[in-house]
Amino acid sequence: MTSIAHFDVIVLGGGQAGLTAAITAAENGATVCILEIAPRALRGGNTRHTRNLRPMHESGAFPMEGAYGFDEYLDDLLRVTGGDTDHALAALTIRESEHSIAWLQDHGVAFQPPLSGTLHLGRTNAFFLGGGKALVNSLYRFAANLGVHTIYEATDIALNISGDRFIDLTYQQVNNTHRISGHSLVAAAGGFEANLDWLEEAWGPAARNFLVRGTPYNKGNILRQLLDAEFKQVGDPGQCHAVAIDARAPAYDGGIVSRVDSVPLGIVVNNEGKRFFDEGEDFWPKRYAIWGRLIAAQADQIGYAITDAKADGLFIPTVLPPLKSTTIDDLARQIDIPADSLLKTIDEFNAATVSGSFDHQALDGCRTEGLPINKSHWARQIDTPPYSAYPLRPGITFTYLGVAVDDRARVQVERGNPSENIFAAGEMMAGNILGHGYLAGIGMTIGSVFGRIAGREAARHAS
Ligand SMILES: Cc1cc2nc3c(=O)[nH]c(=O)nc-3n(C[C@H](O)[C@H](O)[C@H](O)COP(=O)(O)OP(=O)(O)OC[C@H]3O[C@@H](n4cnc5c(N)ncnc54)[C@H](O)[C@@H]3O)c2cc1C
Repeated sequence: MTSIAHFDVIVLGGGQAGLTAAITAAENGATVCILEIAPRALRGGNTRHTRNLRPMHESGAFPMEGAYGFDEYLDDLLRVTGGDTDHALAALTIRESEHSIAWLQDHGVAFQPPLSGTLHLGRTNAFFLGGGKALVNSLYRFAANLGVHTIYEATDIALNISGDRFIDLTYQQVNNTHRISGHSLVAAAGGFEANLDWLEEAWGPAARNFLVRGTPYNKGNILRQLLDAEFKQVGDPGQCHAVAIDARAPAYDGGIVSRVDSVPLGIVVNNEGKRFFDEGEDFWPKRYAIWGRLIAAQADQIGYAITDAKADGLFIPTVLPPLKSTTIDDLARQIDIPADSLLKTIDEFNAATVSGSFDHQALDGCRTEGLPINKSHWARQIDTPPYSAYPLRPGITFTYLGVAVDDRARVQVERGNPSENIFAAGEMMAGNILGHGYLAGIGMTIGSVFGRIAGREAARHAS
């Protein structure tokens, strides 16, 4: 054993949830240590890829517009989850989210005016100036100034839990073993979205074709240890946030620039050249999160978003340009799908479009009629070269399986009282709120709210 140390509060994971917990615990008088598996340059987990959170607010004060009250927020959450949420924790999250902007501003995070473009979120979502990376850097700086000790590249963390109590842990750093004890433990080490073996247990071999949009470090090692210690599980291993991303994106950490937003402006086909879902069902911000799952269900987990020149400039382009051609025939050859089948799909689609007044900012009713799968809005004939194709893969954002917590962020046991000194925040417990479905910006909201609760309660227990 190279070193032995003690802190009041040990926080596992240095993303937004862990940083918020660490800062709150330190402000409540605790000595705090963050153990982060990533090197300093890659700190901040999935948080460094984020752009916004979703706060409840009545005032519309900067950076928000209008008002977004409790009832509307709750309605939105209940709709996307189909009611699959812990209602008390959901209400707590929404109420406490009202303080998230002020808390972040007080801790060095700046906001920007709402973005325009395909995501019309000015009333519901607050955008971080400089994105998640700037937020992460601000919070690390604030934490360091409070005396929070951060250990990077802390690998192989092994928790020593007796009954439902955390005792101490060991970790490796540069081949040396260290031991740290603490009065309280905050688990904020993300989900298991970067662990393809674990994903395969839930999704089968299809998981091997998933691309991980965020950090490669969220492999669920801490979550696994808590579940093995028989803390109560919440959520379904197959539920997650997954979007359609450019199939040419890197296996990990591609971030938001690989998301393909052209879907509602054209058609999407599988590798047989056939459509499989209504591309214009609803506004894209409400539908983008179903397309990862839809692509995952196709053969070889691949799809192709096809548009013509009329769609150019109407959606946020991806970092990689589309494949382009002046003929459908040649485009099909480039993406290696049967040209006759793609031509047939497009001919049938074009013939089924009914005339209307196209408006990509509204549910315009420009639709098809008579197809086995119709398109409800923004259906225009694909007839104007050059034609574009984006290859699509499922891009997993984060998983929902986690540990059950109570309103003090204490992890729950199957029977009896929750743990006295183990708390969870962020993705590790997001499944309490998100049984399935997703509401843009609620991931960061959950981390912000439960990070503050976990930090406060961990410090209180330690004192
Ligand atoms: C591309 C992308 C864009 C997103 N955009 C948004 C957005 O705009 N708004 C929104 O609300 N949500 C967004 N999300 C979701 C959001 O990132 C998460 O909900 C939020 O960041 C979760 O915070 P967290 O602290 O729980 O997890 P993370 O930020 O992922 O932090 C977990 C930390 O734990 C560390 N860790 C993991 N395993 C271990 C271990 N064994 N030991 C020690 N440390 C470990 C990781 O390295 C990481 O630093 C996005 C996600 C992605 C991938």
